[in-house]
Amino acid sequence: MVKLIFFDMDGTLYEGNTWDSVARSLGNQCYEEEQKTVEKWKNNEYKDYIEWMDETVKIHKKYGLTKKKFFDILNSFVYHENVVNTVKELKKRGYKIALISGGFMEKAKIAIEDMGFDHVFAACEYIWDEEGNIDGANYTECDYIGKVHHMQHIMEIENLEKEECAFVGDGHNDVFLAKAVGFSVDFNGVPELKEVTNKSIVKFEELLEIFK
Ligand SMILES: [Mg+2]
Repeated sequence: MVKLIFFDMDGTLYEGNTWDSVARSLGNQCYEEEQKTVEKWKNNEYKDYIEWMDETVKIHKKYGLTKKKFFDILNSFVYHENVVNTVKELKKRGYKIALISGGFMEKAKIAIEDMGFDHVFAACEYIWDEEGNIDGANYTECDYIGKVHHMQHIMEIENLEKEECAFVGDGHNDVFLAKAVGFSVDFNGVPELKEVTNKSIVKFEELLEIFK
């Protein structure tokens, strides 16, 4: 019986991806440089996810990302239809809910306020100087296989077996997570993810039929 449901954030709860949106907002040249890092990641040219994030943050700094601009971007994001009421209803039904993201903690905090997650891990959180410019960032290895380690940490805290946990995600980076729990759902998932999930959904509220 499922007691805890893990959720991916970007693309699952929210439409779009923050890394992508930040780079686009800083101009074409910035976006092109950021896309080069994506290629490097795909070609295994980074030691780990942290090294990739760090290079991306340096690009954001180079192109003048400010605290104000960053939060304007975060506030422009919208949830997929029926996300907030569905997650709140699942919590009301007694499920523990956890958020695991390779994106930004600042954005995860908005989701905590809106839906009351019991556990949250996100990979990156900015540190700003007094003028609101980037002064650094806190990183956690929380994407791809690193997401699974955080997931297992939460299972230990809650004293739950993998069979008692479910996962909902959308991307190719979620394949490891779908395999690490007893029951997995993809929400408009990419083909690689669909191959490994127990159930595919196209509307978020379908979760209420799965987790009764
Ligand atoms: Mg995603």
